[in-house]
Amino acid sequence: MANTRVLVVEDEEALATLLEYNLRRENFDVALAADGEEALMKIEEFQPDIVILDWMLPRVSGIEVCRQIRSKAETKNLPIIMLTARSEEADRIRGLETGADDYLTKPFSTNELIARVRAVLRRIRPALVQEEVKVGDIRVDRTAHRVWRGEAEVHLGPTEFRLLDHLIQHPGRVFSREQLLNAVWGSDVYVEVRTVDVHIGRLRKALNKAADGDPIRTVRSAGYSLSPER
Ligand code: CA
Repeated sequence: MANTRVLVVEDEEALATLLEYNLRRENFDVALAADGEEALMKIEEFQPDIVILDWMLPRVSGIEVCRQIRSKAETKNLPIIMLTARSEEADRIRGLETGADDYLTKPFSTNELIARVRAVLRRIRPALVQEEVKVGDIRVDRTAHRVWRGEAEVHLGPTEFRLLDHLIQHPGRVFSREQLLNAVWGSDVYVEVRTVDVHIGRLRKALNKAADGDPIRTVRSAGYSLSPER
């Protein structure tokens, strides 16, 4: 399984480097952004699983970055932990209202931050830390490479399995064909974008044979998402 990707958005270089070092030591893949504009770019490029976002940033503020993340279908559910030097209750509430999942006031220990990262991921993205994932009526055993829908076992080819495994880690999130290509086939392999449609078609057929209701949503000109009924 790939490492969990963390984007650290922090303009204080010393703190950014410290967080990078400690997160890497815990086997996270880390990317850094020093301002809000860079953060929005890196979110698209790096596709993080979680964002650690400083409140006070040059150019685009942390709160604005947070707002923009929440306003896009692809990143609407992306977990965010806000960092701030302010400790006022009003700011804390404003941060959470804007859509941050958790909040840390500076100064904090890196152990505390890592514990919060794990806690937020466990709560929002259980698929990242579990061997068995269940979303709606779909259950994936990632160790045994087996899939069920309701009571019925679903037999998938290796590519369809990886596609489902990727989609089920981010329920509701819309992935473009290019993003799915990068995640499932890897960015160093040349595969035609249309190939994604073919394998989504097979995955959909296999899932829909097991139960009623199509859990895969096709988003016109955007891509695909897994949104089974909960
Ligand atoms: Ca700052």
